[in-house]
Amino acid sequence: MKLVRFMAPGNPTPACGIVINDEIAELEGDIFSDPARRRGRYPLSGVSLLPPCSPTKVVAIGLNYGDHARELGFPIPDEPIIFLKPPTTIVGPGEAIVYPRSSSQVDFEAELGVVIRDRISSIKPGEAYGHILGYTCANDVTARDLQKKDGQWTRAKSFDTFCPIGPWIEKDLDPGDLLVESYLNGERKQSSRTSQLIFKIDLLVSFISGIMTLFPGDLIITGTPAGIGPMQPGDEVEVRIEGIGTLKNRVIADFGLRISD
Ligand code: MG
Repeated sequence: MKLVRFMAPGNPTPACGIVINDEIAELEGDIFSDPARRRGRYPLSGVSLLPPCSPTKVVAIGLNYGDHARELGFPIPDEPIIFLKPPTTIVGPGEAIVYPRSSSQVDFEAELGVVIRDRISSIKPGEAYGHILGYTCANDVTARDLQKKDGQWTRAKSFDTFCPIGPWIEKDLDPGDLLVESYLNGERKQSSRTSQLIFKIDLLVSFISGIMTLFPGDLIITGTPAGIGPMQPGDEVEVRIEGIGTLKNRVIADFGLRISD
């Protein structure tokens, strides 16, 4: 079941729905409500899709594929490395990634996103899957030059628009061995499988919930495989995940002007 948030024609407030073939069945409630309670239908092509959830925080995992740790020259971590991206980084499918003027290397990072269903704190790994709403595609956009310069990652990971997610949340999915890919202007750049994750999803949810309370709609992005690379204004970047779909975004310059170096 594919859960979406969208703007229906003539309705100024966001709605939630289920994608059924090329239509959206609008739900009476939000993405957490009973999916059997429905309103009208809209053609998928006639609505604007929104980010499929509104997290209070995005918890990201660094260096969770061994080949990516090696390409950056970092050792394989013995515990999950976590960092936060603010909710203001979130954009939906088709929205622009704005290339900040203070960076000259902005990279894509294709990642599986895990959407939390309940308010949870200090849960065990064996309980994790019972508290997951579903899975989505995410792009952990990173100003790589600022990441290296700062020595910690907050600025590099936190620019507005630096976390595209979508196009929807797939509820019925085993995330254990999914193909994760990125494409830049149609050319494949990253290709790996979630079976290669160093720290698996149940362990990540448990680990993070032992640090901070997670709320419905909070998002965990699970790390990126090798093959990251830079984008330029005008580029189109796609994150494709098996069993979910394709998240597509275009990069634009800040205010239409890019100060070159
Ligand atoms: Mg990442």
